[in-house]
Amino acid sequence: MTGTVYLVGAGPGAADLLTLRAARVLGEADVVFHDALVPAEILKLSSGRRIPVGKRSGRFATAQHFINKRLLDAAREHRVVVRLKGGDPMIFGRAHEEISFLLQHGVRVEVVPGVTAALAASAELGISLTRRGAARTVAFVTPRVGQGEAPSTWVRTVLAADTAAIYMGAGESGAIASTLITGGLAASTPVAVVENASLKHGRREFGALGDLASLARGFEGPTLILLGEVFSEAAAAARRATASTARAR
Ligand code: SAH
Repeated sequence: MTGTVYLVGAGPGAADLLTLRAARVLGEADVVFHDALVPAEILKLSSGRRIPVGKRSGRFATAQHFINKRLLDAAREHRVVVRLKGGDPMIFGRAHEEISFLLQHGVRVEVVPGVTAALAASAELGISLTRRGAARTVAFVTPRVGQGEAPSTWVRTVLAADTAAIYMGAGESGAIASTLITGGLAASTPVAVVENASLKHGRREFGALGDLASLARGFEGPTLILLGEVFSEAAAAARRATASTARAR
């Protein structure tokens, strides 16, 4: 008999965005393998052993095959094993690799969803990602491609969607903007850049796609790029604010 591995979404950062189910599973956990950026307040919900296994952004991450193996070993030893991931485990969280590996080895897996960054950012900005009659499609994309992987179709997808949330892209904002503009998006397309959504020290900038690199400059925490017409009022207000500061000088 092996235990169950729970893939649990820790949400975007604010501890009180955790689901009640996640809190319960953490309370029952014998061992918790967690992303490095999961807040201490959430980790405290478990009295089990806590083992950090890499950063949410993918930098310095523990190799995936090694995490898979540790989860399997833990499931052979314990009843409740938690793999705690930032945001939602099923969005850019490599959940598929862990689930298929564990199932292949006969381990039961359950997933507890979390609030993904795009939805936390939307809530925080007070801007709906959909809009009746105007924005009917939302795409979650990442330009990030691992070594040896097939090329991504993210550009095509962003061009086709009314609203797009770009994960793991802030570090390459300049390249992202120019790729999208070359692909056919107007440089004036409204964008929002949100760092540390849901956290007190979170920051945000609004503007046009053509200015994305300067908008995202200095955002070093987890940062999401959002774009689409739903951000047009916020981008226009930011433009007016910049213009009036310039006049006041
Ligand atoms: N599974 C996570 C995403 C992991 S990929 C989720 O569902 O949210 C990591 C990327 O998510 C980061 O590079 C950033 O683009 C985004 N991200 C995660 N947390 C964030 C936050 N609090 N604010 C803004 N972006 C965030």
